[in-house]
Amino acid sequence: MVAKILLFDIDGTLLLSGRAGYRALTRAFEELFGVKQGFDGVPVAGMTDELILTDALRRAGVVADRVDRERFHRRYCDLFGEEIHFPGPRKGLMPGVLTLLDRLSRVDEVKCGLVTGNFAHPARIKLEHFDLWRFFHFGAYGDDAPVRDELVSIAVARAERKGVTVQGAHHVVVIGDTPLDVQCALAAGARSVAVATGTYDEVALRGTKADAVVSDFGETDTVVELLLDI
Ligand SMILES: [Mg+2]
Repeated sequence: MVAKILLFDIDGTLLLSGRAGYRALTRAFEELFGVKQGFDGVPVAGMTDELILTDALRRAGVVADRVDRERFHRRYCDLFGEEIHFPGPRKGLMPGVLTLLDRLSRVDEVKCGLVTGNFAHPARIKLEHFDLWRFFHFGAYGDDAPVRDELVSIAVARAERKGVTVQGAHHVVVIGDTPLDVQCALAAGARSVAVATGTYDEVALRGTKADAVVSDFGETDTVVELLLDI
């Protein structure tokens, strides 16, 4: 048993991929459904990739069955593997992320995992690109459930299968950059820490039910203490 399971969101929390996801989605959508710029105006922050696709299909008036969606999923993953190598706006790690994850990896009482709306395959490509994959032991992804609220319990169940257990859901902490990250923690009875490095600023995040809000992960000692004590 460990004292805490820490479940990190990826985009806007750990890193930004410089819109590689947007470019790969857009290319796959045009290739398979013949619609240009299919994701312009589609809200993405905190959403699962599955729901983002559903929204884009609806806006474009495209009817897609399960086979079409699976084909899209595969093509998107392939294209993401290309796009991640190109430069883009704000591409990189959020402040303090590498130091924080390195520090947490040396703390026996905690184990880090992922809860992200990204499909599993691009999530791994993204984290490997930035050399962060090695810090995460388990996770739940956008292809595990369309709704983010279901992902925390899936991640915790996967942790248990790896022998990582905690005393209860309140020893699970979700760390993310949107109100939807906070909401998925609440839905699972978990704690949450919101970080203002993504789409939402500190004021907006304080309006959620997050247990704590931080501007970024720059102050490693303070953030480690917060995550252990919350
Ligand atoms: Mg995010």
